[in-house]
Amino acid sequence: MYQSTNQKRLYLIGSTGSIGTQTLDIVRRHPERYRVTAISGGSNVKRLIEQALEFRPQQAIIADAEKYGELREALAGSDVEAAAGADAIAEASTHPNVDMVVNATVGYSGMAPTIAAIGADKDIALANKETLVVAGELVRRLLKSSKSRIFPIDSEHSAIAQCLAGESADSVRRLIITASGGPFRTWTREQLANATVADALNHPNWSMGAKITIDSATMMNKAFEIIEAHYLFNIPAGRIRALVHPQSIVHSMVEFEDGAIKAQLGIPDMRLPIAYAIGESTRLAGASEALTLDRIATLTFSEPDVRMFPCLTFATTSLERGGNAACVVNAANEVANLAFRQKRIPFNDIYRIVAETLEKEPFIAAPEYQDYVATNASARRTATEIADSISRQVTIK
Ligand code: NDP
Ligand code: MG
Repeated sequence: MYQSTNQKRLYLIGSTGSIGTQTLDIVRRHPERYRVTAISGGSNVKRLIEQALEFRPQQAIIADAEKYGELREALAGSDVEAAAGADAIAEASTHPNVDMVVNATVGYSGMAPTIAAIGADKDIALANKETLVVAGELVRRLLKSSKSRIFPIDSEHSAIAQCLAGESADSVRRLIITASGGPFRTWTREQLANATVADALNHPNWSMGAKITIDSATMMNKAFEIIEAHYLFNIPAGRIRALVHPQSIVHSMVEFEDGAIKAQLGIPDMRLPIAYAIGESTRLAGASEALTLDRIATLTFSEPDVRMFPCLTFATTSLERGGNAACVVNAANEVANLAFRQKRIPFNDIYRIVAETLEKEPFIAAPEYQDYVATNASARRTATEIADSISRQVTIK
């Protein structure tokens, strides 16, 4: 195994997922720069074992405690320690052998390890946008008294960070976040009502995990990205605009006070933003294939249709309300997104479940950590009740 004192030691959370495996591709190709000292996954223990035996981290952690025995047995006799559970996943963020936490788990499970990493002054390469949706205000506050820095992996935010490099904050007029529009961009309202899981999973440009792919189809993903940008770059939601750009070549833009607009362009390939984030805003040669500009026929941009994709409105609704509102939206969306994937509710009811949950849940104006935990649990219960009642009334093909 390649060992060098210049290797950055990464703790990769969500190593078995889409971003996780692409991060490991970079580590595999650049052992002179990176080493994983810990990896963690949700329940795919087979893949976690394979990764542990290939990359030899000091620790491999599985969230699903029922899979712990299998993990421990497979790693017995290797030098990799097996562990299990959400607490172990968060705790590993604070370990002295970690230089940077790469948070690529999905959903609410990303919050605790991010907060733990900030408490231990660790740098974070953040794919898990839900951390900032759930608890953006708390994260921003904790960062003020920590040495941690957050480097975004989300392609739009990476693009914005690249456009902001060398610019002064007060020269920024607004952020323009591009959206592919997802698989339903050109669908009619009637078609959308009958959209199947297979239709929604068929993303035109990006290959990603199932949850974010459905979030892209509803455009909840773009609402989350507006919230994410608000907290990462400290820009009010009113100065962040989403624009539909079906080619996914311009990954996002910044408009400046003098009228200039800077954009970052590239093929849709997450390895570039992952490399830029784990490299602390430096460029890794060959991270992705370069774009052949003369092969691009046209780049188009248009306003998103919020009547067709009302989930987009949750960005402003929840940021204007503040407090625990976005945490409620995230929890309800996790429940609704999964219920749709399980063919228990129709596509358009994802919005309905989130909106109704937001109306029903108690508002907390200045939540602390435990309030987010409680809000997440309570909003999930409420959303589950609504989803169950819808699912009793409909039959989905
Ligand atoms: P995947 O579903 O492919 O991977 C999620 C990872 O998290 C897997 O390793 C999974 O383990 C693990 N996991 C799931 N649930 C838990 C849990 N409760 N506790 C601990 N680990 C868990 O998702 P993606 O890689 O697509 O997305 C990860 C994050 O990155 C999301 O927040 C997403 O929004 C964001 N992102 C992803 C992009 C992409 O291109 N994929 C682009 C931009 C942002 P297991 O495999 O065992 O289920
Ligand atoms: Mg994105």
